[in-house]
Amino acid sequence: MGVTLQDDCEVLIIGGGLTGLTAAVLLREAGHSVIVVEAAARLGGRVHSLRDRVSNAYLADLGPTWIWPEAQPFATRWMQELDLELTPQFDKGDSIIDLTIDASPARHQLPGMDGSYRVEGGTTAIVERLARRLPASAILTGVRVIGVSSEAGSIQVTTDNATLPVFRPHRVVVTTPLRVAASSIVWSPALDSRIIHLMEATPTWMAAQAKAIAVYNKPFWRVRGLSGRIASRVGPLVEAHDHSGTLGDPAALFGFIGWPRQVRQVNASTLQSAIVAQLVRCFGEDARTPDYFCIEDWAENAFVCAPLDVAEPPQHPELAPSLLRKPLWADRVFLAVAELATVSPGLIEGAFHIGSEVAKKVSATLR
Ligand SMILES: Cc1cc2nc3c(=O)[nH]c(=O)nc-3n(C[C@H](O)[C@H](O)[C@H](O)COP(=O)(O)OP(=O)(O)OC[C@H]3O[C@@H](n4cnc5c(N)ncnc54)[C@H](O)[C@@H]3O)c2cc1C
Repeated sequence: MGVTLQDDCEVLIIGGGLTGLTAAVLLREAGHSVIVVEAAARLGGRVHSLRDRVSNAYLADLGPTWIWPEAQPFATRWMQELDLELTPQFDKGDSIIDLTIDASPARHQLPGMDGSYRVEGGTTAIVERLARRLPASAILTGVRVIGVSSEAGSIQVTTDNATLPVFRPHRVVVTTPLRVAASSIVWSPALDSRIIHLMEATPTWMAAQAKAIAVYNKPFWRVRGLSGRIASRVGPLVEAHDHSGTLGDPAALFGFIGWPRQVRQVNASTLQSAIVAQLVRCFGEDARTPDYFCIEDWAENAFVCAPLDVAEPPQHPELAPSLLRKPLWADRVFLAVAELATVSPGLIEGAFHIGSEVAKKVSATLR
């Protein structure tokens, strides 16, 4: 008899980002029945891409871009496993140093981007290849988990979708950012206050950042011996890079917006024109009319960014306390998100690592 979605799922994974999908694939390969419940309408979490309006082809990364294979064995192994190619970040030519609004930005030689690689097809290709290894029936998107409870030793997971019954998995893996899990899921009984405190104290890497993408018909900066890189004290972009495809097609630039969320909100109607004006200042008139322009403001994504991530200055991820990696509720509930990895916390490498580690731990408790 086939396994029914609701009443006989061994492992329910909350969140369909890289960690959740990695864990789901490995648990399934280990013979366990798995369901991934993802709040957003798409899989990937912080991994997301801009696509062509007509062909839907990948154009640019709206979330993570780089992998550093020389220092990241887990990501490198997964790229091989998923048959994905890496290409070096384009960095040939001079960079633009943009120090003051009153002076023309200057050309400058910056240290290269050696070791930074992009994924062919974008980082969403990772998500697509992982998801392909799961049956469609194992993935629910657009369904937000709102409560996890334990009653008489059995776990119940409730969602915001009234047409779905309560799930009763044997194990739950929570792969949402920790602050999101602490503030938007009702835990019954309440989680130990030390755990909640540690979850709230763990910032989500890049959660409050915003990224801008400009796609052009050709990489005009390359012709002038420019790398596409900007280092700016003026903004709105504090940093920009060439983001073109192989051989410069499609031609694109991406940049991190330095204005904090509140400033972005107040200036929402003029942000795009301010960024384009900066690109024109740095690269000339050719930058005036991008074919596509897109801003992804991660601070507006409540499934990724919690109020504390906006309130605090960004901090580089540090090793999270080991207490958060200990299973909860008699080995039935596991927390696992990139920030909890013991290797490269907060990064893609960390997501692969913790996803694999939690799959092993959960599987061991089900034998
Ligand atoms: C702008 C930006 C640039 C970055 N650049 C890089 C880079 O160059 N290199 C690098 O290594 N890393 C980079 N990162 C970090 C990288 O994106 C993360 O390490 C990785 O994507 C984390 O994956 P995750 O699955 O652990 O978490 P997430 O991607 O945050 O996934 C969590 C998932 O949980 C879902 N969720 C939340 N609440 C619920 C709920 N109640 N019910 C169901 N689902 C829920 C979310 O929608 C999300 O899909 C960047 C991140 C950003 C935002």
